[in-house]
Amino acid sequence: MAIIKCSECGRAVSDRAPACIGCGAPISAPQSAFNLVPARSAGAKLTPSQLRWRLALASLTLVLGVMAADAASRWPRGGRLASTLAALLLISGLCWFIIALVQNVQSRR
Ligand SMILES: [Zn+2]
Repeated sequence: MAIIKCSECGRAVSDRAPACIGCGAPISAPQSAFNLVPARSAGAKLTPSQLRWRLALASLTLVLGVMAADAASRWPRGGRLASTLAALLLISGLCWFIIALVQNVQSRR
């Protein structure tokens, strides 16, 4: 709890008070901003089919990344852009795969 100044009349009022005791102006408590943010519900879990799809897409991205990296290394003329894209695909696929794997393991608990 803190004492704040009323924005209307300048009187010292509690930030927990719904309104200023002097002029009746509504007090906006700073912590109320956090209450407006919806709490992430722990109950919203992904369905098994969604998890399977994520894992499948992640492995597909990973495989494509490996293939692209392989192609880029075999074909040096592709240049820096091709190898950068291949590396990006590989890294994002790997990250995605790990995330999907962790989500799968967590959902089984
Ligand atoms: Zn006031």
